[in-house]
Amino acid sequence: MGEEEKRHCKKCGEEKMVSEFEMYRHHSKKDIWMPSNRCKSCKMKHNNAWRKAKRNKEKKYYWVYCLPEEHYVGITSNVKDRMATHRSGGRITEGYELITKCRHPARALMIEAILHLKGYHGCNYKYYS
Ligand SMILES: [Zn+2]
Repeated sequence: MGEEEKRHCKKCGEEKMVSEFEMYRHHSKKDIWMPSNRCKSCKMKHNNAWRKAKRNKEKKYYWVYCLPEEHYVGITSNVKDRMATHRSGGRITEGYELITKCRHPARALMIEAILHLKGYHGCNYKYYS
């Protein structure tokens, strides 16, 4: 065999040793291993970007929360900051409960509205404007 085979990365276009590529199984012939068409460093960059995007997505959830001491229901996309704001505004945040997590604010507003109709305090007018 001698020299190691080289291969072009389809992503960065560089010619690299086959060992720089991840191996994956052939889709029909399971005993055949093929080098990926993206080199390991490109794959890693891609994975990191994907993970970051996923993390940012997770931040966008809307929580419907309850302050039992205040009989208060509200919505926030940042629980920690919201609780800090409540505390500085003189509310009791001890024992706060996260009722549900929503991907869309409209759904969170609906749940919040129902709870307000049931007699809970707190109305985030800024979300309605
Ligand atoms: Zn590459």
